[in-house]
Amino acid sequence: MKNVRNIAIIAHVDHGKTTLIDGLMSQSNTVASHRQLEERAMDSNDLERERGITIYAKCTGIDWNDHRINIIDTPGHADFGGEVERVLKMVDCVLLVVDAFEGPMPQTKFVLRKALGLGHFPVVVINKIDRPNARPDEVLNMVFDLFVDLEASDEQLDFAVVYASGIQGYAMKELGDEPVDLKPLFDTIIEHVDPPSGDPEAPLQMQIATLNYDAYLGRVAIGRIFNGRVTEGDRVAVCRNDGTKDSARVTKLWGFKGLERVLRTEASAGDIVALTGFDAILPGDTITDLENPVPMPAIEVDEPTLSMI
Ligand code: GDP
Repeated sequence: MKNVRNIAIIAHVDHGKTTLIDGLMSQSNTVASHRQLEERAMDSNDLERERGITIYAKCTGIDWNDHRINIIDTPGHADFGGEVERVLKMVDCVLLVVDAFEGPMPQTKFVLRKALGLGHFPVVVINKIDRPNARPDEVLNMVFDLFVDLEASDEQLDFAVVYASGIQGYAMKELGDEPVDLKPLFDTIIEHVDPPSGDPEAPLQMQIATLNYDAYLGRVAIGRIFNGRVTEGDRVAVCRNDGTKDSARVTKLWGFKGLERVLRTEASAGDIVALTGFDAILPGDTITDLENPVPMPAIEVDEPTLSMI
């Protein structure tokens, strides 16, 4: 668990999030870039749209040396049914990616405010510094002002900064550094982000942050294991938001490698995994120990859109 880092990425559309994640994947030899998977992803999105289930959060798993970095995409400015809170609760840090020319955009304020409110210490990535009109110092000041605006604490204002060009595949901790590769960004993530806390020996507690839909397997429940461990085939309890309880069997269990799910036999506290075997599960539900069920506190929902599912 001490080698795991769970982070969420916040970026305005077009500020280079997809390209940066692709760069991190290719420099870590993690398979399957966005471009390779684009078609397949579009297919599955179509399917989800048909069924009325939309994926708001996606998970990318990247192996860097002996570390596993899970990067969760946050939904944009719109918050449906508490999705933003659930994603932010799963992670130990947020990466704010900002275009070095455009600066922070109002649309990212919403998610950033929630991240700061939850006590996260963001890492700021000033991206696209290769742009001829890039103005990284000014943009950094704009980000600082935004944090002040959002009432960040002194500690949050003392954020780590990395300058990057996702498209050219480099990052640096200081503007004058030699642009080589993305190692400075990997290093900052490993150094700055706390490993997940949680007790693998305690009763299982996994809160569902988001759902995928698989044509053959049905609902795929994605979330972080806060405590305990889970093994394929386990019988577990499901504690729902409405206070009811049920039992089910974990039919399959996955981790994330690149943008793809990879089957695993077990997982424990700190991991972000996907499970199947739960027909009626909803975001916010807790999958927990059958003998010793411990529901996680409900996450406040801003908009009652869950009835759509
Ligand atoms: P996303 O919407 O945040 O996922 O952004 P994308 O990664 O799709 O990039 C949006 C556009 O910016 C594309 O045309 C990219 O080629 C371009 N882009 C991405 N990263 C960089 C960068 O580091 N430098 C420059 N100059 N362009 C970039």
